[in-house]
Amino acid sequence: MAGTLIVGAGSAGCVLAARLSADPARTVRVLEAGPVWPALSAMPAALRDPAHLPVGPDSEVVWRYPGNLVRGRLAGGSGAINGSYFLRPPAADFVAWSAAAGRRWSFDAVLPVFRGLENDLDFGAGPDHGDSGPVPVSRTADPAPVSVAFAARCAAAGFTELTDLNAGSGAAEGFGRVPLTISGGRRAGPAVTHLYPAAARPNLTVTGETTVTRLLWRGTRVVGVEWTRGAERGTSRADQVVLCAGAVESAALLLRSGIGPEAQLRALGIPVVRPAPVGAWCTDHPEIGIEYPGEPGRPAVALEYVLELADLELRPYTPQFTAGLRRLGVALMHPVAAGELTLRAPEASVPPHIDQGYLRRSPDRAALRDGVDIAAQILGRRLGPVDEAWLRAHLSTSQHLSGTCRMGAATDERAVVDEYGRVHGIDGLVVADLSIVPVPLRRGPQAAVMILAAAIADYMVV
Ligand SMILES: Cc1cc2nc3c(=O)[nH]c(=O)nc-3n(C[C@H](O)[C@H](O)[C@H](O)COP(=O)(O)OP(=O)(O)OC[C@H]3O[C@@H](n4cnc5c(N)ncnc54)[C@H](O)[C@@H]3O)c2cc1C
Repeated sequence: MAGTLIVGAGSAGCVLAARLSADPARTVRVLEAGPVWPALSAMPAALRDPAHLPVGPDSEVVWRYPGNLVRGRLAGGSGAINGSYFLRPPAADFVAWSAAAGRRWSFDAVLPVFRGLENDLDFGAGPDHGDSGPVPVSRTADPAPVSVAFAARCAAAGFTELTDLNAGSGAAEGFGRVPLTISGGRRAGPAVTHLYPAAARPNLTVTGETTVTRLLWRGTRVVGVEWTRGAERGTSRADQVVLCAGAVESAALLLRSGIGPEAQLRALGIPVVRPAPVGAWCTDHPEIGIEYPGEPGRPAVALEYVLELADLELRPYTPQFTAGLRRLGVALMHPVAAGELTLRAPEASVPPHIDQGYLRRSPDRAALRDGVDIAAQILGRRLGPVDEAWLRAHLSTSQHLSGTCRMGAATDERAVVDEYGRVHGIDGLVVADLSIVPVPLRRGPQAAVMILAAAIADYMVV
C-alpha cells in the first residue's frame, strides 16, 4: 500500500492526519512510537486531566533527553501532556518568519488559519478569533489563589491587565488569563480535537508502538520507512513521507537517514544522501525558576495567568514542584543565542546530543537579569546577587525546542526545507512540525505548530 505516510501522531501529525484523510481518495497511514488507544474513551482518564502533567520520572508516555528535556510519546505527542496554554505568536514573529520563508508565513496569511482552528468559548467569532474550529479555547473562570495573588501583585506593580492575550498583533504588554485548550474540564489536545474524530475514516490507519528508525531511498526520492515494533522489524512503502516526529526526533531521523552535515554523517559512517544543515540551529526558551515559600493549593492547570513583557514571559505556576515552595518562572522568549542538535550514534536507540545554547550570549543573560528584577519587584522579595552563576543555578527549560530543520529558500544555506516543508533536493519528503520554524517565537509553540501543520496540510491537498 502506498499513499502518504506520517511519522508521529503528535501535535502536528494529528492535524495532518485529519486534514489529509478528509480526501477519501488519499490513503493516509500514521506510525506513532507511543501508545495509540483504539478510541478516545480508552485513553486513561489521568491524561485528560489538565491539572496533571504526566512527565514525572515514572511516566511511560515521554521521551527523555539530558537536560530535563522531555517530549510526549503517545497519541497527541507533546500536545497531549502539555500545559494546555494556547497563545498565538505576535505579529512581529511572523514578520521575521515570512522574511526567512516567504509571504505564506506572514501574519495576515496565518491569522485566518488560526481562526479556522479555534473555537474560542470566551470571545466567540471576531477579527481575532474563530468559533467553529475543532480546538476549544477558554480561560480559567475561577483561578487558584496563587494565580489571583499574582494578578493582584502585577496590578499593584503598575502592569496593565489584558482581557485577551490572543488579540490584535500581540504586541501589548501586560498580564492576563492564559487561553487554554480545555473543554468541560478536560484536556483537549490534538489527538482529541483532530485524530480521534477522523479515526473511523476507512482511508486513515494509525498504528501505535511503532518507531520509525530510518527513511528508505531510491536515489534522492524517499520510498518508505524502516520501523521497529517491540522485537519486530519491518518496512512500509509510501509515495510520500511526512515527518511530524518533533524538533528532536525529526532531525535525528533525517540525520540517521543521510540528510545532514556531511562531516558529522561521515564520522558516524552514515552514507550521505544529501548534505543539509539539519540540527545546525535550534532555539528554545530558557526559564529561570524563582522559588518562594507558599501553601499547597487545590489542583489547577499549571499556568492560569502570565505577564507578557516584550521578550519575557513571567509564569506563576500553580503546582508545587517542591513541597512548601511556589515557583515563578521568568522565561526569555526571544533569545539571541542559538543551540545545536547532533547525532551521537547511528542507532535510533541513542538519543541525539542537544545543546540549547542557554545563557551563552550576554544580551540573553542581561534580559533574564532584568526579568528576575521584575519578578523580585512583583514578589516583594530581595534576590541575588543575580550573576551568571545564580542564573545557571536557577536555570531550566520551557520544553519549547524548535528550528532544527529550518524553513527557507533553496539559496539559503541555513535552510533544510522550503516554505511548504519539502526537504530541499529530495523528492517525496515533507517535514511539518516545530522543527521547521526558522525564527524564535515569543510565545509557547503549541498554537504555532498547529497553525503550521494546518497550513502545510492545506497546501498538500490543493
Ligand atoms: C511537558 C511539556 C509542556 C509543554 N507545555 C506547553 C504549553 O502549555 N503550551 C505550549 O504552547 N507549548 C507547550 N509545550 C511545547 C509543545 O507541546 C510542543 O512544542 C509541541 O507539542 C510540539 O509539537 P510537534 O508536533 O512538533 O511534536 P510532538 O507533539 O512532540 O509530536 C511528535 C510525535 O512524534 C512521535 N515520534 C517521534 N519520533 C518518532 C519515530 N521515530 N517514529 C514514530 N513516532 C515518533 C512522538 O512520540 C510524538 O507523538 C510543552 C512541551 C512539553 C514537553
